[in-house]
Amino acid sequence: MKVTRRQFLKVTGATVASFAVVELGFDMTATASGLKGVRTQGVKPVPTICPYCGAGCGLVVYAKEGAPADGPQLLSVQGDPDNPINRGGACSKGSAMMNLREIYNPETGEQEINPERIWKPRYRAPGSDKWVEKDWDWMLDRIAERFKETRDKYFEHKDENGIIVNRCEALASMGGAALDNEELHLIAKMNRALGMTFVENQARI
Ligand code: SF4
Repeated sequence: MKVTRRQFLKVTGATVASFAVVELGFDMTATASGLKGVRTQGVKPVPTICPYCGAGCGLVVYAKEGAPADGPQLLSVQGDPDNPINRGGACSKGSAMMNLREIYNPETGEQEINPERIWKPRYRAPGSDKWVEKDWDWMLDRIAERFKETRDKYFEHKDENGIIVNRCEALASMGGAALDNEELHLIAKMNRALGMTFVENQARI
C-alpha cells in the first residue's frame, strides 16, 4: 500500500500522542467524564425546534443558569440527539440560531443582545410609512377585528352558478416550520370552518 507523507505524519503523530498520555498516567475515561461535568455545570439545556425550514429539526439551546433575562445568556445551540428527525445533527443555519438573540461584538469582545432583533409587535397603519410598537393585546384584538371584517365582507355562500360554496377567498393562512402535524391539523380545521381556501404550511413533518 502506498502511504503519502501526510498519512504517515497523521498516523505517527496520533500514536506518539497516545503513548505520551498513557505514560503520564492519565485515565482518559475519568478525564472525559470529568470534563463533561465541568462543561455542563451551571448550564441549562432547553430543547426546542429550529424555526427556519420545513425539516423541523430538534435543537438544544444551552443557556447560563441564573443569567439576567434581558442580557446575554446563551452558550451554544446544538442538534438534539433525542430528536428522531435529525438525531443530533443540525445544518449551519440551525446551528447559528443563537444569533437570532445574541451576537458576538468583535469591537468589545463581548456577547450582546442582537440589536437587529425585533422584540415587540409593530404596526404600520394603512397609508403610513412608519412602524409603531404595540402591545400584544392591542395587536391580537386588531388582527381579530380585521379578520372578522374581511370575512363578513367577502364570505360567499353560493357562487355565480348558484352552487353552495361557503368560502372566503379574501383570507389566506400560512403556517411556519415549527408547527407539527397535530397543530397544523387543528389550524386547517379552523381555517376550513372559516371558509378559507388558500391554506399553506411550510412544514409537512
Ligand atoms: S437545522 Fe437546518 S435543516 Fe434543520 S430545520 Fe433548521 S434550517 Fe432546517
